[in-house]
Amino acid sequence: MIAQVTRLVAACLVLSVACASTRAQDAPEAAPANPAATPPAATEADEPSVIAARVGGDKSQTRIVFDLSSKIDVRAFALADPYRLVIDLPQVRFQLPPQAGDTGKGLVKAFRFGLMKKGGSRIVLDLTAPVRLDKSFVLDPADGQPARLVLDLTAIDRPAFLREVAFDNRPRTDLGPAAKPANDGAGATNDSRPVIVLDPGHGGIDEGAHAATGEAEKNVALDFALMLRDKLAQSGKYRVEMTRSDDTFIALTDRVQFARAHRAQLFISLHCDALARGEGDAQGATVYTLSDHASDAEAARLAEAENRADIIAGVDLSSEPNEIADILIDLAQRETRSFTTHFARALVGDLKNAIRLHKQPLRSAGFRVLKAPDVPSVLIELGFVSNRADFKELMSETWRTRAADSITHAVNDYFSRRMAGGAGAVGRE
Ligand SMILES: [Zn+2]
Repeated sequence: MIAQVTRLVAACLVLSVACASTRAQDAPEAAPANPAATPPAATEADEPSVIAARVGGDKSQTRIVFDLSSKIDVRAFALADPYRLVIDLPQVRFQLPPQAGDTGKGLVKAFRFGLMKKGGSRIVLDLTAPVRLDKSFVLDPADGQPARLVLDLTAIDRPAFLREVAFDNRPRTDLGPAAKPANDGAGATNDSRPVIVLDPGHGGIDEGAHAATGEAEKNVALDFALMLRDKLAQSGKYRVEMTRSDDTFIALTDRVQFARAHRAQLFISLHCDALARGEGDAQGATVYTLSDHASDAEAARLAEAENRADIIAGVDLSSEPNEIADILIDLAQRETRSFTTHFARALVGDLKNAIRLHKQPLRSAGFRVLKAPDVPSVLIELGFVSNRADFKELMSETWRTRAADSITHAVNDYFSRRMAGGAGAVGRE
């Protein structure tokens, strides 16, 4: 009913990079290769690796070079607001040092990299200004040098940048991170059990929040979701589907679409929160529901952080017309909202006996991932990875088991009431 909104402020600026067979002798090489990078082992030669990265230049012209274990084809496109250059590659292994990309130089502020979907990786450059991609080429290995991907950026003004971006504004079905599972619909099955969609937050290039140890939210969320899936599936009462079950990036709207395509009767997104240093300390789990008005400033801050997933990975949904977002919320039928609220309250009631909750454990804000109008949806922030005690628990098998058992109990309760009495049985808002 609602068209999938994938129109992007994106343009395939150039290239399926024609592999230049000549060395760009005239172009100055950037900074020296990173000595920390290790060349790939011969046994892994079949999967290409990115083994080093370096940035050189200034605010008018910048070159970024990636050393590769073998030649690959890449494609690049630019995005506005914030200015980014997205480089899509075949699936590669990134053998870069942990701090790689944290800081850049010249027109490149920083960069991120990771798996987008099976068979495809991505690098996203955060830019300090609008740029034109002047040249991009892949060099053959030669003279003891590895293969190299070279991108030359030149600063241009914003109108020129937007013209270039708008030049090719087709829906990019080939480039989009449409990390949708192969079995996208639920129609093919005779299974009449209710479908629960579990949605581990973030993934791939989008790591989410980080603990002081460096542990990424995407991994904590996935590990927990896998445990919860097993517990829910054990009863045999539900069909449990996961928006992702590995370290893959999935756009927020694709998660929503996934739930709708499976006619999910419950959608549970799993995350962990973090406060930046200096923002104080907070702990405990929180259950969030969708609202166009955030219940408080912290909820608004969090929704903004969680909604950044698509910006991080280079999928720009800012072109999604606001009217559509509004319609999505308006379409949220009273019944869906009522089911959602009922489940969220019951969940908090169960969780408070099992794990530590935040002092305001039930809140709401404008989370994109909760916007399916016909699927009761909640987002659970399991705890704060920035809080030492919370983090210890999030990493503990015992704590996870207790939390997953408690959620399973709330789910069972919710469905048994729904089955028994329909909408009336779960109260009205
Ligand atoms: Zn998150």
